[in-house]
Parts: sequence; structure tokens; C-alpha cells
Amino acid sequence: MIYVKGLSKSFGDNQVIKNIDMHITPGEKVVIIGPSGSGKSTFLRCLNLLEIPTGGTITFDGQEITAPGVDINKVRRHMGMVFQHFNLFNNLTVKDNIMLGPVKQKLMTKEEAEAEAMRLLKLVNLEEKADAYPAQLSGGQKQRIAIVRSLAMKPRVMLFDEPTSALDPEMVGEVLELMKKLADDGMTMVVVTHEMGFAREVATRVVFMDEGIIMEENTPQEIFNNPQNERLKSFLAKVL
Ligand code: ADP
Ligand code: MG
Repeated sequence: MIYVKGLSKSFGDNQVIKNIDMHITPGEKVVIIGPSGSGKSTFLRCLNLLEIPTGGTITFDGQEITAPGVDINKVRRHMGMVFQHFNLFNNLTVKDNIMLGPVKQKLMTKEEAEAEAMRLLKLVNLEEKADAYPAQLSGGQKQRIAIVRSLAMKPRVMLFDEPTSALDPEMVGEVLELMKKLADDGMTMVVVTHEMGFAREVATRVVFMDEGIIMEENTPQEIFNNPQNERLKSFLAKVL
């Protein structure tokens, strides 16, 4: 589904992503772990062209999206992205947040988008918050709304960048539960997280990034029980 070849990204003289190759097949759940500053967010942002790579190619569903002249907005429509800080529109109700994308992109009529928003709110047991504003929600509720807002666009793949890092500990579980549900439903997912329990349980593959390269990748079993790379070993010693 996503084929990354020789991906590089520099900010000025600072090469943050160094010649990364990655192949993501439909239904895979790839969890990216690694120390702060290792390039995880930049890599994820390159996948949906929030950052423009300085080298290499990305092919998504058979289309080279890094080729000149590609309609970036059309590509992003098929890739949902969830950030650490929710990025909900604070001046819109919960329901309007969810309806905005599909209506603006003319994927649904207003009526269809409203029905879809209510279906998604039911899915996360937040129907009673349809007319509330983001400020009236807890962090965990906001993040679950941010996730279903992405789902309203019917993405082919979901990218998550530390979706639980900004949450109070007691709210982490409800967000991870929703992500597990998506995983069980077959969604293709790429998740940057420090939640090692989630990685163990949900990942089909764990990727350890450090200093802009993939240092090691394997099944969660192998990564956690039989790490090879010294830097991975010392990283795991700190986070486990
Ligand atoms: P991680 O998500 O693993 O913590 P990031 O991808 O956020 O790492 O950052 C990797 C490196 O890229 C850091 O040194 C960071 O300062 C740098 N970086 C990230 N975004 C930018 C940017 N927009 N401009 C300049 N440097 C950036
Ligand atoms: Mg990051």
C-alpha cells in the first residue's frame, strides 16, 4: 500500500531522515519507536506530504505521490492523521468538526455527513457530545473525536503521532482501546508511540528508529524479547 524508497529529509544542513526504505502492506499495523529527536514525526509527516522529502520516493496505492504535479490534498484525503495535540477546531461543535472534511471535499452531502458523524459518535459512545464544543471535552474525549473525525474521510491508512502523549494517564486507555478496535477492524495503521504495551499487543511489526535511520525492525516478540542492536537494548532498558 505504501512503498518508501530512499527517503531523506533535511532541514538546512540537518539531515533528519537518512535514506529510509519501508514497505507497508494492507492491514499491517506498523509501530515506530525510538528516542526523542530521532526523526519519527518527520518520517510520518513525509508519508502524507506534510513535509516534502528532500530525496527518495513514496508510492501510495500505486501512485508515486512524490512525483511533480501530484495533488497533495487528494492524497491526504486517503491518509488520516492524528496528532498529539488533537487539532480540533475549537469554534466548531463536535459534530461540525467531524462533518467538515467530507462536506468541504464534496465527498458527502450535509445530510450524509451528519448521519456519518452520528454513526461515528455512537461508535465511541460520545453521541451526547454532538453539540458540545471541544473545550467542554476531556483530553481523552477530544482525542477520540479527532480519531473519528479522520475516519469520516474513509481513509485507506491511519497515521498516529504519539496520540496519547498529551493525555492524563487515566485517559490513555480509552484512546488505545479505540485504536485497538480500528486495528481489529483491519485498518492499516502506522503508529508512533511510547506505549510499549500497545506495540506488543497490536503491532504486526515494530520499527526502531534512531538518528534518522531504521536501526532494527521485527515482530514485537523479537524486538522486545530478543533485541539485537545495542541502541535498541539501551532504549528498551529506559522505557520498559
Ligand atoms: P521525533 O518525532 O523522533 O522526536 P522529529 O522528527 O520531531 O523527531 O525531529 C527530528 C529532528 O528534526 C530534530 O532534531 C528536530 O529538531 C528536527 N526538526 C523537526 N522538524 C523541523 C522543522 N520544521 N525545522 C527544523 N528542524 C526540524
Ligand atoms: Mg515526534
